[in-house]
Amino acid sequence: MIFRPALRPLLFFLALCGSAFGADRLSNPLADAPDWKTLEKFQRTITHDEFERLLRDVYCPKGIREELIRVDSDAACILTDRDAQRWFVLRFAKSEKSRKAPPRFWRSGSKLPRGTKTKPLLGLRIALDPGHIGGEWAKIEERWFQTGDVAPIEEGEMTLRVAKMVAERLTALGAKVSFVRDRTEPVTPYRPADFKETARAVLKANGVENPPEEFAGRDDPSREQTIGWQSELLFYRTSEIRERARRVNNKLRPDVVLCLHFNAEAWGDERNPTLTDKNHLHLLVNGSYLPDELEHDDDRFEMLHRLLSRTYDEELKVADTAATAMAKATGLPPYQYTTDNVIKVGTSGYVYARNLVATRLYRCPVVYFEPYVMNSVEVVARIKAGDYEGTQVVNGIERRSIYREYADGVVEGLVEYYKTAPSR
Ligand SMILES: [Zn+2]
Repeated sequence: MIFRPALRPLLFFLALCGSAFGADRLSNPLADAPDWKTLEKFQRTITHDEFERLLRDVYCPKGIREELIRVDSDAACILTDRDAQRWFVLRFAKSEKSRKAPPRFWRSGSKLPRGTKTKPLLGLRIALDPGHIGGEWAKIEERWFQTGDVAPIEEGEMTLRVAKMVAERLTALGAKVSFVRDRTEPVTPYRPADFKETARAVLKANGVENPPEEFAGRDDPSREQTIGWQSELLFYRTSEIRERARRVNNKLRPDVVLCLHFNAEAWGDERNPTLTDKNHLHLLVNGSYLPDELEHDDDRFEMLHRLLSRTYDEELKVADTAATAMAKATGLPPYQYTTDNVIKVGTSGYVYARNLVATRLYRCPVVYFEPYVMNSVEVVARIKAGDYEGTQVVNGIERRSIYREYADGVVEGLVEYYKTAPSR
């Protein structure tokens, strides 16, 4: 399940008052200041045509102002300092043949050592990122509901369970598997109380003066305007994902990250949730930045870093192959977005490009899985049935356990992609 985008327009507004965060720049809360010099290493690693293709078709399909990125025939000029009107000049390679290789820690499928018949994933470094935190944090992160008198359903616990199954199988196939999170505890060392001042600044920048400290409960309609709720959001969304990105980029440095989630439709009251008949599947890769997001210095910088690292073509191939395997394993139809913050990409019909914090900040190919609607009648019945070997009749249909079926799709997709990657 993806964090609700409700705050996006607000974030842009608050970013205009960037000085509230101690810096005169347009940025997201808790974002590191972009280090534009680090883009120097990408000089002459990409041709004009390739840069244009990725910029216009993948990352900025809704447009980008010329004042932010101007593309000339031999270079692109990128705005780095609005007040001083400073620009970074990226020089293009003259041809595909003469271009330098982009520096990066991850390896594409075609550059990996050859696998064997029994170990087709030999040497592949995979990081698993089970979505959310779960455990005692599940209610705070609003990934918890209870229907009837059975145990509560928590996305963060379910994603970890799937990740452990996936890890065991991928390891047996020769992959080196690491976890971005391996327990129902936060990766960030901070807690909501650490973000009270930032929460106050966020609210002030959104025109909320003298906000109340606490909210009455999860159904309090004015909770978004309290310091308590904003501090929690900064903890479990912003700080947590930024800390996971540091772990991925500085410590794990994998060839690919798999973000594992369960999707959901709005369920209303967590103790009397609305159940739905809808059930679907989609996968996400990074792209489709909105024009307002590109005004943020940190969004623009990370977008360029991704574009120049050339992650898109690799992650799309992994995602498309994995989506086909997931569709086969689950039998689910593709989710159809009704919002304009995505574009459909690839050929499977299940993959979209979208600008999520995790897919933006992890500096390697990232495939973000969103199968199953957790609060659908069918999925609730399958979650209640728990994990089991073989098949069982659930809601009148004979099925694998939902966790094993999810793991099957992920593993089969990866094996399919990496065994057929060009050099293998
Ligand atoms: Zn999720």
